[in-house]
Amino acid sequence: MEERLIKKLMTSIGCDFCGQHYEMSGIDIIGHREDLWFLNVSCPACHTRCLMAAVVKESRMSGEVVGPAEEASGRFDKNAIDVDDVLSMHVFLKDFDGDFSRLLAQK
Ligand SMILES: [Zn+2]
Repeated sequence: MEERLIKKLMTSIGCDFCGQHYEMSGIDIIGHREDLWFLNVSCPACHTRCLMAAVVKESRMSGEVVGPAEEASGRFDKNAIDVDDVLSMHVFLKDFDGDFSRLLAQK
């Protein structure tokens, strides 16, 4: 999974405080463990920073990346990422203590 796509996904999510959508320049990828990605995002409007996690299911791309390039890339973004999963992880992280290093170290 490309980091650029992870960031693109995050731009579909709004800030908890002011509702402004995040911008790719305000998103830092901390790391990932399999299909669970951890990010540090900064709101472009109110500059609130928060930690976020995204579950990105690469398996959904199977068989989709064929055919004309433009059509394939359109479906690629749509199918590779499950926004519902990201939102649920976002809620989860509100109660998370922020210890990403411990989480990432788990096997
Ligand atoms: Zn904001």
